[in-house]
Amino acid sequence: EHITVADLAQRMAVKAREVTKLLMKMGEIARESDTIDQATASLLVEEMGHNPVPVSDTKVEDDLQYAVDERSSNVQTRPPVVTIMGHVDHGKTSLLDKIRETKVATGEAGGITQHIGAYHVKTDRGVITFLDTPGHAAFSAMRSRGAQATDIVVLVVAADDGMMPQTVEAIDHARAAGTPIIVAINKMDKPGADPDRVLNELTAKEVVSEEWGGDTPMARISAKTGEGIDDLLEFISLQAELMELEAPLDGAAQGVVIESRLEKGRGPVVSVLVKKGTLKQGDLVLAGEHYGKVRALTDENGQRVKTAGPSIPVEILGLPETPAAGSEFLVVTDEKKAREVADFRTNRERERQLERQNAMRLESMFDQMAQGDVSFLNIVLKTDVRGSLEALLAALNELSTDEVKVRVISSGVGPISESDVTLAESSEAVLLGFNVRADATARRKADAANMDIRYYSVIYGLIDDVKSAMSGMLAPEH
Ligand code: GDP
Repeated sequence: EHITVADLAQRMAVKAREVTKLLMKMGEIARESDTIDQATASLLVEEMGHNPVPVSDTKVEDDLQYAVDERSSNVQTRPPVVTIMGHVDHGKTSLLDKIRETKVATGEAGGITQHIGAYHVKTDRGVITFLDTPGHAAFSAMRSRGAQATDIVVLVVAADDGMMPQTVEAIDHARAAGTPIIVAINKMDKPGADPDRVLNELTAKEVVSEEWGGDTPMARISAKTGEGIDDLLEFISLQAELMELEAPLDGAAQGVVIESRLEKGRGPVVSVLVKKGTLKQGDLVLAGEHYGKVRALTDENGQRVKTAGPSIPVEILGLPETPAAGSEFLVVTDEKKAREVADFRTNRERERQLERQNAMRLESMFDQMAQGDVSFLNIVLKTDVRGSLEALLAALNELSTDEVKVRVISSGVGPISESDVTLAESSEAVLLGFNVRADATARRKADAANMDIRYYSVIYGLIDDVKSAMSGMLAPEH
């Protein structure tokens, strides 16, 4: 299928002239009346900041097909996807663990619990999928890539602590994304629990409980005893019904990467959440800048599965590298087209990176020129998964002050290697590992250089240490 430049421009509501200009940049000369193929059209659409939607019609499955309009087949109700947010220590992780523990059907209990970035449970009212990286950083990292993976936010507020800064932050994030909120007032088992205070405080932020005439469902729960969790799940299902969440069940799968990591012996392991269609073993998948054939699908219980439908998370093996969390993935049938798109994206990513580096270099030069007394805290950062890397980079990014700038000079997924140590040494950087260790060579090298490698497993721990390092660097006040 082909489309004329003029038609495509019209569909995107841009001037045809802009499209021809962009085409020229991509090395193709075309007039407004000329037709271009779908792959080129999709690249154009993407370049212009729109989201191309692949046609999931079986008739055209033989081609890598995109269309600005969406066609679908066998549309069905799909489970809601839930992200849990809230202040640190209010019980996000405990709640995720408790739901998982109590709701996994006994038949599936044979498997070993795997952390794949999400899991789904069956309730009386249907299936619910939880993204199991709690927190706002992961939520916004996904969103900044245009991946609207979450349908509903569960906001956890500890009944003995009330509304705290990150509670407010979570409300802001959910609002910005237009995602409905359900409140879980947690730690009801504690003697100091004061749910009315929570209701009051939330009302001040215009999150008003249904009990008080507002539109936010609130469940009183305990992630420790399990009290109220069924109510919470019911609220989620009711909200989902209201939202009439639907997705086509048939056709080539499309979705989002929720997490990816390198695993010894298995290679790149990529967790995805299917949004449309059905993902199958043997499918050719294009995810971000990489593509490959799906060798195996594994669910969150470590069990091999053959297929995964809408809102179902699975881990896939077969991609050559780890795409970033939040990247879209889609099943394609034409390997040549997949390669074309992957190459195009790789080049584009490289260009953007160069631009960013140049901008950063310039910025820091200007900074140094303008203010002679600015210091830099250089950081080399390694993490276990892309998700935590992005969350940490986002958090570190916000720490810079006028006096001290935080500069991540290198970051990546995997163990701390010799070259990380060398780089940190040569650039006087601190070397931080998040859920990863240094390999033996790196450790020897660091010892020899008398360098300290710091290890963390909690984001806030790392951030706090960086903050103290920064204050240690502050020039004494005059
Ligand atoms: P997160 O930082 O929001 O993920 O919070 P955690 O799930 O790690 O919980 C923080 C602390 O509160 C842990 O010590 C939990 O055991 C405890 N906690 C979480 N939920 C409850 C609850 O419902 N009741 C009580 N008594 N303690 C809880």
